[in-house]
Amino acid sequence: MAIVDAKLMLLKATGEKYAVGAFNCTNLIQMEAVVEAAVEVNSPVILQASVAPSAFLKPQVIVAIYRTLAESAPIPICLHLDHCSDVDFCRTCADAGYTNIMIDASKQEFGENVRRTREVVDHCHALGGVSVEGELGTVSGVEDQVRVAEDEARLCDPQQALEFVDRTGIDIFAPAIGTAHGVYKTRFPKIDFERFEKIAGLINGGTTRVPLVVHGGTGLQPDVVKRLVSLGGAKYNVSTDLKHTLIDTTYRYITDHREEYNPGNIDKSVKGAIKERINYWIGLLGSADRA
Ligand SMILES: [Zn+2]
Repeated sequence: MAIVDAKLMLLKATGEKYAVGAFNCTNLIQMEAVVEAAVEVNSPVILQASVAPSAFLKPQVIVAIYRTLAESAPIPICLHLDHCSDVDFCRTCADAGYTNIMIDASKQEFGENVRRTREVVDHCHALGGVSVEGELGTVSGVEDQVRVAEDEARLCDPQQALEFVDRTGIDIFAPAIGTAHGVYKTRFPKIDFERFEKIAGLINGGTTRVPLVVHGGTGLQPDVVKRLVSLGGAKYNVSTDLKHTLIDTTYRYITDHREEYNPGNIDKSVKGAIKERINYWIGLLGSADRA
């Protein structure tokens, strides 16, 4: 069965010290590229759609594509709604068939974040087969409609993280540790590894209860990625890289073939370029042959 929720997939990843790539997609070609690349190396994978593409394409359409791709694939695949601050839209996507929902109420004060997150957890757990990701602290940068200025970004407090996990009942957890969405302004952003390690120890010290998520994965150096994975990062989000690959490849193809009117060739070239990036990430995250 290739259709899975994120929790089981990520408990295994945490235990075996690799991470599953969670790749943001905005269209069919990207989704196909991600799945094909993962199948070729026998890796579990997470397809992600943030709120704007989910609303634009409609959750039912994304779910139909996901199910068609996942049902015929010999690897576990999860469909994740990324950074949704609207409880009602979280419910809509869970009802439509997304298998993991991220309620992002991280801009709210603690109690309100807990309340909204709990509401989504209750709904998804009642449905069954749908897990929930929550966030505490804020990741700076722009991801879809979520904008957080650098001076607004707050790192996650470890003790509060434990309380958040206990009170919300979330399945996977995204602590803010200094990573950012979009393109990093520096090649060496300041990542708070100690904080991440402390959070991992407090929540998953004895047995793994709630796998951890790394946001803003695009611009991190390979040694940073590996360190985060070794400290317990089990879901690794990549969005900006794939957006750039899609747009740059399309632009380059059209510029080089200005007289050609064959959209299929643009799709092929985009698909190949995306697959290369997925291969890079899967190699770094260590998820090949873990399906
Ligand atoms: Zn994110």
